[in-house]
Amino acid sequence: MTRAGLPAGIRHAMLCAMGEFPPPSHHHGDPAASLRGCIDLHMHSSFSDGEMPPEYLVEWAAELGLKAISLTDHDTTRGLQRAIARGRELGVEVIPGCEISVKLSGGTFHLLAYFYDLNDEGFEGTLRDIADKRETRNRKIVASLAEHGMPLTYEEVLEEAGEAVVGRPHIAAVMERNGYVTSRQEAFDKWISNDGPCYFEKDTFGPEEALKFVREHHAVPVIAHPIWLNRGGLDKTEEYLKQLKEWGLMGLEAVYPDHDEVWTEGLKEIAKRLELIVTGGSDYHGGKTKPHTTLGHGEGGGFKVPGELLEALRKAHEQAAR
Ligand code: AMP
Ligand code: FE
Ligand code: FE
Ligand code: ZN
Repeated sequence: MTRAGLPAGIRHAMLCAMGEFPPPSHHHGDPAASLRGCIDLHMHSSFSDGEMPPEYLVEWAAELGLKAISLTDHDTTRGLQRAIARGRELGVEVIPGCEISVKLSGGTFHLLAYFYDLNDEGFEGTLRDIADKRETRNRKIVASLAEHGMPLTYEEVLEEAGEAVVGRPHIAAVMERNGYVTSRQEAFDKWISNDGPCYFEKDTFGPEEALKFVREHHAVPVIAHPIWLNRGGLDKTEEYLKQLKEWGLMGLEAVYPDHDEVWTEGLKEIAKRLELIVTGGSDYHGGKTKPHTTLGHGEGGGFKVPGELLEALRKAHEQAAR
């Protein structure tokens, strides 16, 4: 079989292993011809759920002619120093970034934080504390279930969660799989709802707290892929963003592969009305997680993030740092 005949994920992994950069995906049409001077402010390395080390992302960015990138691993800043060091060698500016998971009653959303101070140990420290607290509480629930005759391992729960913030829905799924309940809802109703016998309280970021945290550390909070706020159309999304802005939100990731033109333009207009900046990025994870997404090019044709957006982000940082 020719290389081109292989499934995208496998082909991608092969090219990466060979030290070659995968070609831009043609999933939605022709790839953007040139990315020279463009940027990509959203990507993941092996420090979170990406497949490639930070250096690889920077090398690829240099090859594409990107002038700046941001590494935005989930809930950690640990890959940054390595990306920055490689960026200095190759002439690619690497902006400190992080994608923070925020808990809502009905799910989660992702908040990007840009330009935090790398010497500010409190930033990473707080992210770690929150993850630890959540894990402690999840383990309490799992231990309590075992005491009630429903043994399960935490590894099973982690596996179920994948890249999501680990929580009760994943525990419920494992309970169902192990045959302790016949549905996830039954797991909640009998055992792990807020007033269930195996429930323990958690401590985690809510929206207001997350925004405050980012601002207190003089970083710029930006809503990642606003379409996935799942508010149901642009109008409802704007209403919610207005609330988030009052809590300190500074920007919207309007330029994103999952946004069609209606969403991209709609979000840009919302940004204007609410005096928020606009950012953009590919959300590259690697060929297995997102087979059609390419660094800088996003998912297929025509996607690129203009370099000018970085200047607005820099200005926002000056304001945030005040
Ligand atoms: P956690 O963050 O681990 O406390 O899990 C909270 C999530 O569990 C919620 O977002 C819901 O998806 C789910 N959940 C909480 N209570 C119930 C319930 N009584 N029935 C069904 N799902 C629930
Ligand atoms: Fe991810
Ligand atoms: Fe995300
Ligand atoms: Zn992401």
